[in-house]
Parts: sequence; structure tokens; C-alpha cells
Amino acid sequence: MNFLETTAPPKARGPIIKRLLIRCPSTAKLTPSGQTIREDLWVKAKIKTSKFNCPHCGQSHTWSKKDVVLAR
Ligand SMILES: [Zn+2]
Repeated sequence: MNFLETTAPPKARGPIIKRLLIRCPSTAKLTPSGQTIREDLWVKAKIKTSKFNCPHCGQSHTWSKKDVVLAR
């Protein structure tokens, strides 16, 4: 009997943690939300709509998942 060992596919070095940046609708600048998420969980992640105080234009923005840009 000759078993070929199935080698596990090479994994990326651990989970990749991304920072969540929120795009300001007024200035189009990005602001860190202070939250992080594993990149592999992002697709399925349910992000609640929430608000943040924007340092770029001084307003309070409501943001949801579509406004988020992931950054390293
Ligand atoms: Zn803003």
C-alpha cells in the first residue's frame, strides 16, 4: 500500500488583520474607525450601521459596510 500524503495547501502566515477605514462622503478622505477585522471574515461579517465623528470635515457620518475600506 502506498499512501500519498496529502499536503495541506500553504497557508498565509496566520490570519490577516485589516483595519477598517471609513470614507468621508464630503472629503473622500479615509478615517480609521479604530476597529479591526480578520480579512477572511470580512466577506461574511455583518457590520451594523453606526456613526463616527469625522476629523476631516467635523461632521458626524453614518456609515455601513459599503463605506468601509480595508487597510493593513
Ligand atoms: Zn467627513
